[in-house]
Amino acid sequence: MRRIFLVPALLLMGQLRASATVPGDCWSERKHGQEAQAQACFTALARSSDAYFRAEGFWGLAQWSLANEQFRLATLTADSKALYKVRWGLLLHERFNQRDAADLFREALQKDPSSAEAYIGLARISADSFDGQAARYLRKAMALDPGRADAHELMAQLALENDNRDTALAEADKALALQADALDAMATHAALELLADRAPDAWFAKIRAINPHYGEGYALVAHQMEMHYRYQDAVTYYRKAIEAAPRLWSAHSALGIELMRLGKEDEPRQELELSYNNDYRDAATVNSLRLLDSYKNFETIRDGATILKLDQAEAALLRPYLQPELHAILAAYEAKYRMKLPVPVQVEVYPNHEDFAVRTLGMPGLGALGVTFGDVIAMDSPSSRKPGDFNWGATLWHEMSHVFILTATNHRVPRWFTEGLAVHEEGEHSQEWSDRLTPDVLVAIRDKKLLPVAELDRGFVYSEYPAQVIVSYFQAGAICEFIKEKWGEDKLLAMVHSYAKTLTTPQVLHDNLGLLPEDFDKQFFVWIDHKYGAEAAHFDEWRGKLKVLVRAAHEKQYDTVLRDAPAVLAMYPEYVEEANVYEFLADADQARGDSKAEAAILTAYEHQGGQMPEMLKRLAALEESRGQTKEAVATLERLNYIYPVKDEELHHRLGDLLYKEKQYDGAIREYNAFAASNPVDKAGAQFSLAQAYFAAGQKDHAEECVLAALEIAPGYRPAQKLLLQLQQSPTTPK
Ligand SMILES: [Zn+2]
Repeated sequence: MRRIFLVPALLLMGQLRASATVPGDCWSERKHGQEAQAQACFTALARSSDAYFRAEGFWGLAQWSLANEQFRLATLTADSKALYKVRWGLLLHERFNQRDAADLFREALQKDPSSAEAYIGLARISADSFDGQAARYLRKAMALDPGRADAHELMAQLALENDNRDTALAEADKALALQADALDAMATHAALELLADRAPDAWFAKIRAINPHYGEGYALVAHQMEMHYRYQDAVTYYRKAIEAAPRLWSAHSALGIELMRLGKEDEPRQELELSYNNDYRDAATVNSLRLLDSYKNFETIRDGATILKLDQAEAALLRPYLQPELHAILAAYEAKYRMKLPVPVQVEVYPNHEDFAVRTLGMPGLGALGVTFGDVIAMDSPSSRKPGDFNWGATLWHEMSHVFILTATNHRVPRWFTEGLAVHEEGEHSQEWSDRLTPDVLVAIRDKKLLPVAELDRGFVYSEYPAQVIVSYFQAGAICEFIKEKWGEDKLLAMVHSYAKTLTTPQVLHDNLGLLPEDFDKQFFVWIDHKYGAEAAHFDEWRGKLKVLVRAAHEKQYDTVLRDAPAVLAMYPEYVEEANVYEFLADADQARGDSKAEAAILTAYEHQGGQMPEMLKRLAALEESRGQTKEAVATLERLNYIYPVKDEELHHRLGDLLYKEKQYDGAIREYNAFAASNPVDKAGAQFSLAQAYFAAGQKDHAEECVLAALEIAPGYRPAQKLLLQLQQSPTTPK
């Protein structure tokens, strides 16, 4: 830390230490591990006659509210220094109050627009929320004061989170050139060594020589491991942090959260409670403890290869869909990636999106639907999202791809490649599940905002514009598609194996495709342009025409819709979101009584990956009425991947269709879901189920269900008849 404090002029007798002490000295003693001196120093500061000094003293003594009070006093007068507000903001930042901290940094900048430390404060807050502004603030700070090592230390950490290792190295070195004891820069160096699978010992030795108790250094390395999917290594380094600094509560909390990610429960609870009881109560700690408490509402279903954790309220409904899907995915990926997972995969499904969000706190990619921590997948339940927003099947295929790729590479894979493959796999499994060519993506293609492949990771972590994360997913997936198309699918697997050897992206491209990253980019951009360039170029025109069409549709001007819509559709057929042309055309067809055309346009919507339940149900009804039972079944089965919850009608209808088709296993599955949906007609659901079991030759189950129906409605004649029939019919082997 650079000395920026002035020694007060007055030296009072008997208060020699207090008067001669400045905050910078105390913090410097702490930084160098001289804790006894630091304590004495802060104690002396706390007795100072200067409110600002007292604030720093109480802060150093971990007396947060007293420190807060003194900062308030110190900043009351109009002529108080901008620095006081910055320091106060940093205290609040440390004590989990980001909003007030940010306000204080901004107020400091109003007082002194050249305050580099205020910009560094803003950068710290931005970095915590991955909002993409941190680097910009740091560049401002560096321009205002090129001598600040802490700005370069933070820049190095951000760069490494983006997996920009060259910049991380250069920034860490700049910090060390400015300040020989820049401990966090040393920690970044240690993380760089670990990420390259080299020994980091020399850097830790340097840190220990300056301060043997600098647990923050190990914690910083642990955080970088976590950002690079190296969850076990993160646990190791959080443990080292605690060993070096047993009272570093932030590390206890982070260790607890990391262990939770690996599927543990008891040790996380101990660590999180320890932090909480020692006043370390940030959102991650508090919410993670709450989440641990909610685990009692979960049911754990194990078989040899899978562990499913489902909320009790929806386990009966979801298990029959999730478990077979999981096994189908395992079989498909085992063949494709030519490997088996060494341990069972655990899938946790959260009906409350907030609970799922707790699983990803402090991680980039807000708004995600699922996340993979090695062998553990946490994901939203369909019941936590708006119907039509989410396809749990696509999410599960996506996340399971991560499990295989992380295992195959021993967790040594850049973010862009594992995300790209996962997106690619969704589309490989079903064309309808291909990543959406959303308006954001089209605009990014038009404005040439796609990133060079060697820098693509930064599009996922610290995004520079709001849609960049979505665009980066699309780009990464498209790159994998391009590689498959041009060089063959085997190249993708070969690249996985190259990453396992900790090769960098330029090396991987060179070894497998014989290209420099720049040449790869050139070819890829030509391919993307060929594929989507025309659509992207006409995006504004399309949007203008769509607006006119929306008005015509709302005013029921069906002739206009029928005349103009096909051309608008052809400009951008992938658009299936709100106010899509498919819906307008279907409505117009319905109005003129052309059910054949209506079914055809809804089928096109379905094949384009449209997911609105009411649109698909409408199609299924048309198919059914036209005698296309198989098509109707297939349409409703798509809905089971989108919103199988809170929809007794879906399962009832699908069960009836399958029963009619003599597909009794499917009918049993659907009637079970019907019965588990808390239906209005509970007896009817049990009776349907009994009929399907009976038809499938499962008399015991049939009898159970028919008795259940009669228990609910004793006078239910068809059930009475079926029971009689069951009792009279000879036992048949299933
Ligand atoms: Zn992913």
